[in-house]
Amino acid sequence: MIERKESIAPRLDKEARRQRMALPPQPVLERSAAERLRDFAETAIPFSPEQAMAEASRCLLCPGAPCAAHCLLSNDIPGAMWLISQGDFLGAAALYRQTSPMPEICSRICPQQSLCEGACVLGKSGTPIALGRLERFVADYERAHDGHTVVDAPDTGFRVAVIGSGPAGIAAADWLRRAGHAVTIYEALPEPGGLLVYGIPTFKLDKRVVREKLDHLRARGVTLICNVHVGRDVPFEAVRQQHDAVFIGTGANVDATARIDGISLPGVLQATPFLIQANLPPALWPASLPPGPPPVGRQITVFGGGDTAMDCVRSALRLQQRAGYPLNVTCVYRRTEEEMPGNRHDRQLAREEGGQFLFLAAPTRFLPDQDGRLRAVECIRMRLGEPDDSGRRRPVPIEGSEFTLETDLAVLALGYWADPRLGEAIPGLQTHDNGLITVDPETGQTSVPGVFAGGDNVTGPDLVGRAAAAGIRAARAIDAYLQTRR
Ligand code: SF4
Repeated sequence: MIERKESIAPRLDKEARRQRMALPPQPVLERSAAERLRDFAETAIPFSPEQAMAEASRCLLCPGAPCAAHCLLSNDIPGAMWLISQGDFLGAAALYRQTSPMPEICSRICPQQSLCEGACVLGKSGTPIALGRLERFVADYERAHDGHTVVDAPDTGFRVAVIGSGPAGIAAADWLRRAGHAVTIYEALPEPGGLLVYGIPTFKLDKRVVREKLDHLRARGVTLICNVHVGRDVPFEAVRQQHDAVFIGTGANVDATARIDGISLPGVLQATPFLIQANLPPALWPASLPPGPPPVGRQITVFGGGDTAMDCVRSALRLQQRAGYPLNVTCVYRRTEEEMPGNRHDRQLAREEGGQFLFLAAPTRFLPDQDGRLRAVECIRMRLGEPDDSGRRRPVPIEGSEFTLETDLAVLALGYWADPRLGEAIPGLQTHDNGLITVDPETGQTSVPGVFAGGDNVTGPDLVGRAAAAGIRAARAIDAYLQTRR
C-alpha cells in the first residue's frame, strides 16, 4: 500500500448526504452474452458522461473514505467522485494519475468488488458506487480528448534499467521518469506489456489501451527494447554496468505444472500458451509457440479456480463459437465455489456465456486415443478436510471415486511460478521458494547493491494493483539511492 494524502473532496453536511443517498444507482452493463461470444472485444458498456456524473453524485465524500483505504494505490477516490460529479472529467483523470501509473488499465482489471467497491459504505444497505466503471470512464475520456499529461522532472543524468515491461515494470519506469531519470525497459517477448498483453484476454483489456500507455512512456523518453531476455541474450552484468541502478519486474510467468500421467499428451495445454494463441495475432506469439490456428476442441476442460482459469474458460467458449461447435467448456476445481480464489464477477460472466463448473474434483490421468492424442481425463472426487496454510479447507481425495470426463482439449490453469533461472543469472541475488527474489519489503532492495525488485517475482502471483504499487515503491527507493550517489 502507498501512503495516503488528504482528499481534495469537500465535506458534506447531513442534509446533502441524505439527498445523495436518495439518488438511484446507474446500471452497470455488459454486452449480452450472445453478443460477447461472437468476438474477443471488451465486454463492458462504458458510462455516458451524464451517467458518470449521476453515479458520482451519489458518493457521500466520506471523510477517511474506506474505499480509498482499500485502494492498492491509495487513489483519492472521494476527490475523483467530487470532480466527476461536477463534470470535471479531465481533473478527475489527472487526480487518479497522481497516484496511479495506469488508471485506464487498473479500472479494467482490478477486482473492485473485493477492494474499493467492496469497502464502499453504500454497499452495506444498497448499491456501492461503481468506482471501477467511473475510473475507467475518466481515464478513457482523457485518452480520447486530451491524451494524458505527466510532468517529468528535469533530467538527472542517472540511467536506470527496468527488466520486464509488465505492471511492476511500467509503474517503476513511469515513476522513475517522473523523477527525471533516463529509463530503458528490457522485455524478453516480442511485444511489451508482460502479463497485460500475454496473460490477460482482450475481452477484459483491449491491447490498444496497453500500447497507448507504452507509447506514452516512449514519448516521455523511455526506451523500450523487446525480444531481449536479460540473463540469456545479454548478460545481466552488462546491463548493470551500463546503468546506475536496476529494477527487476519480470513477474511470475512460468505456468505451474503437476505430476499427472499423460500430461504431455497432445491436447493438454498450459494456460499461458492457450491464452496467447486464443487472444493474440500470431505476429505477437513468442517463437516457442507452433504456428497455426489456435487450438480448439469440442469438449474442453479447464483445470483451476483462479482468474486465469476463468480467462481460459471464456476464451475457450469464444473459440468454440467461432469454430461453429456447440458450446461445451467445463471448469474443474478441487474445492467448492466458496473457496475459489478468482474474481466473482468474472465467474458470473463465464456462467452467462455458457461455462459449466464441476467442483470437488481433480485430474488423476490424461488418457490418449489410438492416435496418441488426448481423449479423456480421469478425475477423482474430493472432500474438504482441515484448513491448509492459505486458510482454505484442504481438498482430500475420496478413495475409489474415480470417473472419466470425455475431453479433447485440456487447459491447465494451476497457477504461476517465478522464473528460477533469473537468480542463477545474477551473481549474489538471493532468492527463495523456487525463484522468488528476496527484498527489503519497504524499498524493494535486493541482496545486490543498486538492484531492486518488485511485483510477482517477489510475492508470487498477485493483483496487478499490488505489482504497480511495488514498482512505485521501488522507484522511490531507487530515486533515494541515486540521490546518495550525486
Ligand atoms: Fe463515496 Fe463509497 Fe467511498 Fe464513501 S465509501 S467516499 S460513498 S465511494
